[in-house]
This record gives sequence, structure tokens and C-alpha cells, in this order.
Amino acid sequence: MLHYQLFINGEFVDSVSGQTSDSINPFNQEVVAKVSRANAEDARLAIAAARKAFDGGAWPRMTREERSSMLKAISDKINEKQKDLVALEVIDSGSTVRKAKEDIYLSARNMHSFSKMAAMDLTENIEGLSKPGFSQNLLVREPVGVVGAIIPWNFPLKMAVWKLGPALAAGNTVVLKPSELTPCTAMELAKILTEVGIPKGAVNIIPGFGEDVGEEIVKNPMVDKISFTGSTAVGRKVMVFASQHLKKVTLECGGKSANIVLDDADLSLAVDGALYAIFYHQGQCCEAGTRLFLPKKIHDEFMERLIAKTRKLKLGDPRDTSTDLGPVISKRQQERILGYIAKGKEQGANAVVGGGTPSDPTLSKGFFVEPTVFTNVKNSMTIAQEEIFGPVLSVISYDTDDQAIEMANDSIYGLGGGVWSKDKERAMNVAQRLRAGTVWINEWHLISEKAPFGGYKQSGIGREFGLDGLKEYTETKHVHIDEVGSREKKFWYDTVVPK
Ligand code: NAD
Repeated sequence: MLHYQLFINGEFVDSVSGQTSDSINPFNQEVVAKVSRANAEDARLAIAAARKAFDGGAWPRMTREERSSMLKAISDKINEKQKDLVALEVIDSGSTVRKAKEDIYLSARNMHSFSKMAAMDLTENIEGLSKPGFSQNLLVREPVGVVGAIIPWNFPLKMAVWKLGPALAAGNTVVLKPSELTPCTAMELAKILTEVGIPKGAVNIIPGFGEDVGEEIVKNPMVDKISFTGSTAVGRKVMVFASQHLKKVTLECGGKSANIVLDDADLSLAVDGALYAIFYHQGQCCEAGTRLFLPKKIHDEFMERLIAKTRKLKLGDPRDTSTDLGPVISKRQQERILGYIAKGKEQGANAVVGGGTPSDPTLSKGFFVEPTVFTNVKNSMTIAQEEIFGPVLSVISYDTDDQAIEMANDSIYGLGGGVWSKDKERAMNVAQRLRAGTVWINEWHLISEKAPFGGYKQSGIGREFGLDGLKEYTETKHVHIDEVGSREKKFWYDTVVPK
């Protein structure tokens, strides 16, 4: 069994209370690791270390090139340790080995991209000011300060990299709280940070529970910005707590993404796409294609193929490369998903595939849920409106494109969306009318560290990735440099309006 301590001010330390919590393998309920469990007091120590490191420490004062090469070294180390990190992610999170391989590979690649962003000079010249006078005007981007980063359990290392990369690239210091359910790879990342010589206090990683550690990070006045990824319900709380000090927030929250198949779609592509959109990582993706909109014209043929392919999906040991779906993260999550399935049936939807837990006795210790497809769903039903975060697809039929778009947008969420059509122009027209932060045409789940990602409506505030994402970790300063050197009049505004 593994043991992890907290990472505060460059040291590995036990929690002040001495408490630990167990990280459980969702496939067999074995204890993967005993992890020091931070509470509010540990959070305050981590925040103080990050504050000191920002106000007087090395990280914000290093050159862009120095920061860039350190992030590149972190990327290289993730690459070197890829095999071990994959194995750990699988047992700690229930991720299939196929997904974990992609996650760890991309964690290294993404950190490499962030290292390049760290070297960029974001200063801009502002030209053409309407107020006359000789001056140079600069738009300078500076780090926000101490960033509190709070992440969920569905992409543990990748999420940690997605927060640390841009925050550090912009010169901030960070307190990172991984999910209490999946702390292991984040703690391995802490080891990597010490190996590459990250300055003390620049990054602090403290696993613990949301109500104590998370809330302390959000409420503490020494933290300048919160970068949160998680549910909309907790996102709302974060915003309320952060408002007390007008702390900056970016929120990456939940979704109920609409997947619209148009009547001219390539059916085999769209069927595979719909499966991937919902069942990738057991449906535990914020931007999963959870609502499938099918035109009545092709509904029956599409469903026949979709049902046949869903039945062939293999639930199993996530370490096995032939497994398509592993367990969901926890008993609690399993029960929550089964509760939604019961609700769907109660409200009149038909579970045409799945709808329960697998009967295979070799899977009895795992938190499995069968891939489930509901037809006869109305967009107003609970299973079409609330985020289930499990392998449950709601199929809704429609007559016209306008109807599909209207229903797609009838949701509190607006994270992702997809359109399947052979006609690019037609698909683009639908994509533009969807109120969502990312829309894929004939594709799904393609998220890149170079393209902005985030939500409309209650799916979030702000964007991650790309230049927009980097700028979320900066303050904007206007510096006006006078180049006249002398004044004719005391009150300078007298010179503005032409005589
Ligand atoms: P969650 O909201 O329960 O927890 C997310 C994080 O917040 C965890 O680290 C948790 O400990 C912490 N937390 C909980 N209560 C807190 C509080 N009161 N104050 C501060 N922190 C608190 O979400 P989850 O179950 O871990 O993850 C699933 C959710 O995450 C889904 O809703 C999913 O859509 C969302 N998600 C969104 C994105 C995105 O990019 N938009 C990506 C992945 C997951």
C-alpha cells in the first residue's frame, strides 16, 4: 500500500491533525493509498507558504525563460514516469488503462505546451488613443498572485496539470487541492516538482475534503484567485464564498451536452460518435454527449445500430486493454446514477439497454453501472435536465432542425455540444446556434490545451486553455509613459479639446 503526505512549502509533511484517509480502488475496493488528510489548518499553512513565495520568493521573479524551462522539465519527468503513472491512475480512479494512457501522455504534452506559453511576452502596445499627446501605452499582464486550484476526480493528473501549467506559466504561486477520491497522481506530481527543483512554496498540494480544505482555500483572504473545476452546485458555493473578498474566479462546472444528429449524417460515423460521446470514461465527463437528438426520419435505424453496439461494450477490469467501461468512481456515485435510472423509468422513459448493475460475479466488488440507453425521453424529464455523470444516455426525437436546437438550448448548462452531418455549412449553422462553449462537428471529446474550453450559462465562468485561458491567470495593467516631458497648462485636460 502507498503512503502520501501533504506537500507544503517544498516539504512532505503529515497533516497537523495526524489524520489520514484511504484512497480506494473502485474496481475491487482495496486500499490503494493512505493519504494525509489536510484540514483548514493545513490549508492555512499551504496558503501562507504560497503567499510568501509570491510576495518575496523566486518563482514570480524568475525570467520567463527560466519558468518555461522548469515547466518543460516537469513535462519530461511525467513522460519518463508514464508507465507508473498510468498504472496508478487506473487503480486510484477506475479509469480504463486505455483512457489512462491517453491522460498521462497528454498531461506531459499539455505541460510542454504550457512551458511554451510561459516564455511568451504578453505585453502589448496600445495604439491610437483618442486623447492626444506623446506617450507610449502598454498593456502589461502580471500574475494574479496566489491561486487556489480545486479539481475533481475524473481526470486526476490531467486536471492537476491543466491548473498548474497556466497558473505557473503566468508567474503565480499555487495551492492545489486534488479530489479526496483520487489524490495519488497529484502527489506523484509533487515528487516531480521537487525533482526539478521548483522553488519552495511555489506549489503546495494538499489533499482533503471540500467542506474543510476547499472552503478554507476559497474563503482565505490571502488567496487572490480561485480556479475551480467541479459540479455546478459546488461552483455556486465557491462563487458566494469568493465574493466576500471579490476574489477572481474561473469555474469549470457541469454539463448536459446535446448531441444533434441531422438527417443527412453519415450513420455509422454518428452511431460510433454517439457511443464515444456518452460512454467514454463511463459517462464521467463534464462535456459528455448525454442528450442524443435524433430526427424521426432516421430514429429507428439509428437506434437499432446504437443498441446493438452498446450491447457489445465490455465492462471489466480497467487494467485489461479489452475493457471498454470500468467502474464508476465510488459507491455513492453508483447509487446516485442508479437513482437517476429509476427516476427515468418512473417518468416514463424506456431503458432499452442496461438499466442496472452487471450480473457477472467477477465484477461484484466494483462500482459498476451498465451502459444504459433511454428512449422515449422528453427534454423536460429529470434524466434530460440534470447531470447524471454516469453511463446513461437520453435519446430524444425531433421533427425539424429548429426544434432540435430549441430543445438543445433548453438547459441550465452550456458546456459542449455536437452536430453530425455530411453538409458542413448546415452543421455550422446549427453549431452557431448552440449556446455552448465547445461544439464538435462529426467528432467528440476533442479538447486541446491550445483552444479555449469552458461553459456558457451554469456550466461555468471564464475559459481554460489557449491564450484566453492563460490570461485568466493574469491581472491587466495599463502603463502610460509620457513622452512630452513638459506642460503648458496646469490642468492638462485643457489641452484635449481642439481650439
Ligand atoms: P464536486 O463539485 O463534488 O467536487 C469538485 C472539487 O471541489 C473536489 O476537489 C471537492 O473536494 C471540492 N469541493 C467540494 N465541496 C467544496 C466546497 N464546499 N468548497 C470548496 N471545494 C469543495 O465535483 P466532483 O464530483 O469531484 O466532479 C464531478 C463534477 O465535476 C461534475 O459536475 C463535472 O461536470 C464537473 N467537471 C467539470 C469539468 C469542466 O471542465 N467543466 C471537468 C471535469 C469535471
